[in-house]
Amino acid sequence: MSLYEIAQKQWKRAAELMELEPWITTILSEPKNEIRVNFPALMDDGQYRLFRGYRVQHNNILGPYKGGIRYHPSVDIDEVKALASWMTFKCALVNLPLGGAKGGVEINPKEHSDTELMRVTRRFAHALGENIGPDYDIPAPDVGTNAQTMVWMMDTHINSTAAHDRFAMRGVVTGKTLTTGGSLGRDKATAQGAVFTLESWAERQKFDLSKAKFVVQGFGNAGSWAAKLLCAKGATLLAASNSRGSVYNDKGIDPDALLAYITEHKDPAGFPGAESIPDKQLWQIKADVLIPAAFESQIDEHNADDIDVKVIAEAANGPTSPAADEILREKGIRVIPDILCNSGGVIVSYFEWVQNRKNEAWELEEVDRKLRRLITVAYDATEEIGNRYNLGEDTRSAAYLVALDRMRHAYLERGIFP
Ligand code: GLU
Repeated sequence: MSLYEIAQKQWKRAAELMELEPWITTILSEPKNEIRVNFPALMDDGQYRLFRGYRVQHNNILGPYKGGIRYHPSVDIDEVKALASWMTFKCALVNLPLGGAKGGVEINPKEHSDTELMRVTRRFAHALGENIGPDYDIPAPDVGTNAQTMVWMMDTHINSTAAHDRFAMRGVVTGKTLTTGGSLGRDKATAQGAVFTLESWAERQKFDLSKAKFVVQGFGNAGSWAAKLLCAKGATLLAASNSRGSVYNDKGIDPDALLAYITEHKDPAGFPGAESIPDKQLWQIKADVLIPAAFESQIDEHNADDIDVKVIAEAANGPTSPAADEILREKGIRVIPDILCNSGGVIVSYFEWVQNRKNEAWELEEVDRKLRRLITVAYDATEEIGNRYNLGEDTRSAAYLVALDRMRHAYLERGIFP
């Protein structure tokens, strides 16, 4: 099953449960726009290389298209379509006035200098042209991109449009640096949102999160921030991994020290505060919380059975395959589904966009308070609808029910032009 088929299977189960009007299902089955661009960029050795980029605009019934830009060698149209559709349902679930989109470039950013990445980013932004804009489609960081990437995109977009309101155009992307119009709290937002959802779960379970033992798969932005935030609450990080390796310490790992080590050495192997373990073993560690924070399709029918935790907080997009979902449900392992768990990123992106429009800079406390409120309301709505439909451990379908219900109302009110 392709990733886009998996994404469809997830929301279509909810569509069937709620008996969604067939014409709405038909509309949602394909993205509105699929943009593919090929563009040259100058490399440091004086040669030109051709790159392929995508922007898929899945749906905008609730507001402008919104979603990240991924730089990874395996980016393809199927993956970007899946990620774009997840953005649609994520924004609807947490009640943002935004639609869903995603973009990507087939590139391994680790193999390029900053100057090459800048030229690639600028040519990509230029190739997208008016297909993005602060009232139309608003990119953000994703795997392999960061605040600097967004600043380059913004600068290129502003400079290649003839608009007079150049300052207002800052809102063409979110996840920018603070000096260029970013928001406090955006860097940790995905992880902070995930931790807020874990708090909601813990409260209902009467579980003390400060005593939690947890494992993080993918020690990138979301994973390392989640580790820091949970450890700050007193929880214990037992194991962590990145694309190069995995480490384990049953006495606990200091996330700041591990991040510093990985920043310097890339591979966590050799980190003095933990021992190296085979990647496969990471899934078998007995813990309270497992946080997949890397890529899609990491938990599948081959490793789901090994997992021995109380709850899985999906900080990544699409980390769990449908087959694994069933296994986890049978085992009674609670999954906080990706479109809920990792929505903190786009929620604070939305706050950044609002601040740009109003020329405001909110304090971190205000950002965190508003983030907690939006994500907790969505968590409660997911629980409530799950109970109403008797879905048991099928929290994923419950989350899609909340999202689809909102979209259904918008479609029924507006109808289809002409
Ligand atoms: N790339 C992030 C996600 O998958 C954030 C998107 C955004 O901020 O627009 O949710």
